[in-house]
Amino acid sequence: MDTVANISENIARVEERIAAACRRSGRRREDVKLVAISKTRPAEAIRAAFAAGVRDFGENRVQEAQAKFPALADLRATWHLVGHLQSNKARIARETFHWVHSIDSLRLAEKLAQAGPPGGACLPVLIEVNLGEEAAKAGVRAAEVEELAAQVGRLATLELRGLMVIPPFLASPEEVRPYFRQLRDLAREIEARHLPNVSMQELSMGMSHDFEVAIEEGATLVRVGTAIFGERQSQ
Ligand SMILES: *Cc1c(COP(=O)(O)O)cnc(C)c1O
Repeated sequence: MDTVANISENIARVEERIAAACRRSGRRREDVKLVAISKTRPAEAIRAAFAAGVRDFGENRVQEAQAKFPALADLRATWHLVGHLQSNKARIARETFHWVHSIDSLRLAEKLAQAGPPGGACLPVLIEVNLGEEAAKAGVRAAEVEELAAQVGRLATLELRGLMVIPPFLASPEEVRPYFRQLRDLAREIEARHLPNVSMQELSMGMSHDFEVAIEEGATLVRVGTAIFGERQSQ
């Protein structure tokens, strides 16, 4: 695990790579949000990243986040849930996170919606798509996204903002590019249907080893863990 001292250097390097990918693809830096994936990392590491300018953090487990957050309550950070969420944890997820990237069923969306304050702020959510149709992965198949998007659009207190993908692991980022492109094309197709209360502006795609390719293909949220915090011990 990298020391806390390395984190700001790592972030500077990630920032350079983001900026270069934006230049190559004619995109603006402010249109890509860096979400530092802090699962398994201690509070000091998160503080170091915050001190280096990161404001968005992602966790993949509700319970881990719940345990960690009291020590970080003073940080004005935005917390993203990027891991699979069971609908029986929807209420606590809603209390804990500002964004949920992993909507994969109507039941989960309904539970999250019911947990929201009536007339209160909407929770931005993304639908997770299992483009590789891998049995072990969460997410809905591409063919099911439009129907789920229409249904989520009808739920009060949620704001559907786009799609998320965790593509199959492939050694070369170039091999992953078609998946990113497919997610972008799917978002455009759904946007063209003009479903009520459905926006497809956000694409959550790209991790440490492939975020540059993801940015070239239109990512608006990149989820970067290892390249910021170093190798993880577990998970
Ligand atoms: C862990 C995780 C990441 C970050 O992966 P790295 O390879 O460490 O950058 C991104 N997205 C999700 C959903 C994750 O669980």
